[in-house]
Amino acid sequence: MIMDITIISEVSNDSLHPVTAQMVGAASSIGGPVSVICPGGFGSVEAAKIAGVSKVISIEGDCFDSYDSMAWSGAIEPFIEGDLVLTSSSTLGREISSAIAAKKGFPVVQDITSLDDGISVTRSIFSGKAIEELEVSVPCVLSIRANSFQPADVGGEAEISTVNVSQQVSVAVKEALAKAGERLDVAEADIVISGGRGMGNPSNFSHLYELADEIGAAVGASRAAVDTWEEIPHSMQVGQTGKTVTPNLYIAVGISGAIQHLAGMRSSKYILAINKDPEAPIFGIADYGIVATWEESIPALKEHLSAIMSD
Ligand SMILES: Cc1cc2nc3c(=O)[nH]c(=O)nc-3n(C[C@H](O)[C@H](O)[C@H](O)COP(=O)(O)OP(=O)(O)OC[C@H]3O[C@@H](n4cnc5c(N)ncnc54)[C@H](O)[C@@H]3O)c2cc1C
Repeated sequence: MIMDITIISEVSNDSLHPVTAQMVGAASSIGGPVSVICPGGFGSVEAAKIAGVSKVISIEGDCFDSYDSMAWSGAIEPFIEGDLVLTSSSTLGREISSAIAAKKGFPVVQDITSLDDGISVTRSIFSGKAIEELEVSVPCVLSIRANSFQPADVGGEAEISTVNVSQQVSVAVKEALAKAGERLDVAEADIVISGGRGMGNPSNFSHLYELADEIGAAVGASRAAVDTWEEIPHSMQVGQTGKTVTPNLYIAVGISGAIQHLAGMRSSKYILAINKDPEAPIFGIADYGIVATWEESIPALKEHLSAIMSD
């Protein structure tokens, strides 16, 4: 089926997040001209270089200075062409996809992990215990789980058109009082190191931060860690009632592997578990396991990974 597809790009630290190229890869399995909308203009030059992108629309305006889903979707919606809209399934992507679907009157399916001509999609349900297959009719909005699709290659030369929507949207957040943390978010990172109650106390998370800084990872936590220690914020929680992550590498440290935790990280590409208990359920889904305390294994891991990174 050939149809016009619009992708809302995902931005991280003012540049294009890799999931944008993955969305283009997903779109290419359907066919048809692919437009990429860059909210706030961020990453538009990078988006134009993705192979398979026919047009980039860089939307600038005051409303993109801070995040507000109503303002963003109001600014983006008039530039959507075609019957299929793709966003990422990050927290922001899900919110934008729902707001755009509501404005357009389209149905929305969140967090899909495959997409075929037709359109049939799959997504995991019941905390990752089952895969649901859905036949979706266009027009529709789909949000795409990161690291589920092959990214499109670099090599495109799409035309970039820039529009300015300042003064044209009814809602614009002028100031955000609480700023997001400086650290990489677990939902965005390629490598996630999560600590559980086995870390003993919250100050021991500093060992995970040091390792994370060495290898460019984000630090997450189990719910037990988040609930037990005030110092570990809920934004770090991975699992059924926390964030779903799909990094290339997930390192679980002092985490038993309760089903609710697995629900948020089992689709990671590779899982390394570090636990002193050889019977811990986390080893059941881990690709690699270290049966040892974190006190023994984290310094050794840091040393080896640092050596690899500096090669
Ligand atoms: C409705 C509901 C929703 C939930 N949602 C979530 C969720 O989103 N995310 C989530 O994580 N949990 C969630 N939970 C909680 C979940 O059931 C578990 O209680 C929780 O995941 C356990 O966290 P933990 O593995 O850190 O702690 P524990 O189960 O206490 O495990 C600690 C582990 O650390 C190991 N350990 C101890 N000391 C060391 C050491 N020095 N070195 C190495 N290993 C060590 C132990 O062997 C043990 O395996 C939910 C529960 C419910 C009921």
